[in-house]
Amino acid sequence: MVLYPPTTEKVEREAKSYVATDKALAQVMDFYAEAYNLQRKVAAESSDMAEFSTIAHTEVEKPFLAGKAVPIDSSTLGELLQKMVEIIESYFPGEHKGVLSQLGAQLSAEDVSEFFGQAEKMSSVEIAKFLDDKGIDAEEKEVLDKAVLAIRMSVAPFYAKIAQAAEEKDWFKLWDKGSCPVCGERPSMAVLRDEDGARLLSCGLCHASWEFSRSICPSCLNDNQEQLKFFFLPQQEARRVYVCDKCKYYTKTTVLKELGKDVVPELENVSTYYLDILAEEEGYGFFEMGKHVC
Ligand SMILES: [Zn+2]
Ligand SMILES: [Zn+2]
Repeated sequence: MVLYPPTTEKVEREAKSYVATDKALAQVMDFYAEAYNLQRKVAAESSDMAEFSTIAHTEVEKPFLAGKAVPIDSSTLGELLQKMVEIIESYFPGEHKGVLSQLGAQLSAEDVSEFFGQAEKMSSVEIAKFLDDKGIDAEEKEVLDKAVLAIRMSVAPFYAKIAQAAEEKDWFKLWDKGSCPVCGERPSMAVLRDEDGARLLSCGLCHASWEFSRSICPSCLNDNQEQLKFFFLPQQEARRVYVCDKCKYYTKTTVLKELGKDVVPELENVSTYYLDILAEEEGYGFFEMGKHVC
């Protein structure tokens, strides 16, 4: 079930378990707890879903959002964006504080809801172009990464609402692709379900999760088993990196049965940053954040 933002209890419990094994994660967990609090206030507000009620199952070849924009209230988004920038700056202060504050102030004063409602515009490359058009200097990687985080965290509750609507229409059950059934993004990570080991891919934008074969690459759909494999760190078999030698895509994958607990994919994703470093060292790449398959 799409449950985003996650509940306070779940976030607290997860944070505790991550920090117990890696104290360096305390700050990032505190950031997410605060960001989710902000998002919860927005998630409670209703958006106009009329446009989505007419989507039929016969259209399931394309993502739920294909050709449609997410309805986003511009003043709610502006306020959220401004606060998100503030908390990012307070938890992760950097040398470029002025630029990020400018981003918060400028974008919260403009109506950017139409642009931010387009799923295909939420990749880091598209966001970089958008900021450049707005005259905001986000060329430095650190600034761009923070800007992308602020924007994607601010729009996520609106996208998650659409994911919930898609799920209610049984959209996920009919979907057989490696990209997100709702917004079309490549998965941010995966889990292997406790009860049957099935692979559930997770979307980092709308937070949908959908079942997808373990023996096919979610990015290029390669099914040559000699080119598909996984690796993990010694004594950490519950957290694996599945890779494709054809397209070099990798998917971090948590085996819930071996881990002995459920996870919040977003928190699991940031907490396993060391596997991203390892995957890159091994020559695999995630490409840019939010890149679309179709
Ligand atoms: Zn999605
Ligand atoms: Zn591949």
